[in-house]
Amino acid sequence: MAGEELRDELREFVAERDWMKFHSSENLAKSIAIEAAELLECFQWSPDADVDRVRLELADVLTYCYLLADRLDLDAVEIIREKLALTREKYPIERARGRSTKYDQL
Ligand SMILES: [Mg+2]
Repeated sequence: MAGEELRDELREFVAERDWMKFHSSENLAKSIAIEAAELLECFQWSPDADVDRVRLELADVLTYCYLLADRLDLDAVEIIREKLALTREKYPIERARGRSTKYDQL
C-alpha cells in the first residue's frame, strides 16, 4: 500500500539523519502548526498563491502529519477514514449539502 511505502521512506529519511531524537510527539505537533502557518503565509496578501510554493508547504504539513501519526503508532490513512465516518454522521448529506453550517446548528 502507498501509505506504508511512504511511511517506510520517511522512516529511512529520518534514520539516515539521526533525527528521531528530535521527533517527540510534542515537537512534531508544533512542527505541523509551524508548517501550516507557512502554508497560510502563501495566501497572506493574495488569494492567488504561487502553486509551486503551496505544493512545498503543503508537503511539509503532510510530512509532519505522517511523522506524528507514525510516532504515535497510528495509521494515517486509517485515522482519516475513521474520522471521515464520524464526520459523515455529523453532517448527513440531506442536511449538510451545500451548507457550511456547523453540525450542531444544522
Ligand atoms: Mg515549510
